[in-house]
Amino acid sequence: MTSDQNDSEKTISFFKKEVNEFVQERNWLNYHTPNNLAQALSVEAGELLEIFLFKDYSVNDILKDQILKEKISDEIADVFIYLISLINSLKMDLTHIFQLKMNKNRQKYSSQEFNDGSFYKK
Ligand SMILES: [Mg+2]
Repeated sequence: MTSDQNDSEKTISFFKKEVNEFVQERNWLNYHTPNNLAQALSVEAGELLEIFLFKDYSVNDILKDQILKEKISDEIADVFIYLISLINSLKMDLTHIFQLKMNKNRQKYSSQEFNDGSFYKK
């Protein structure tokens, strides 16, 4: 995969296949258990958070700093890769579970109740 490809050209199936092939080629399937993958996902999310620790970057700060932008991009990709591997290990369909959860979110945070920019956790 070349880096000039973008989101509009790829499907979730593509990412699931790419991650699965990467894991299979290295014989790492035994390590990619749901427990290990959930932990790895959290570790990578922590690495993403660490970049922002005690900083107050604006979007412009990030966009104009190529090194910072690459660090953030790498951690976002790590989170995504482990999320895809977790989905693969549980044989889930991301589109299906996404739609189910979005329906729950629409009911929980109805646009009738949350239409003025206010937010509170329900
Ligand atoms: Mg990382």
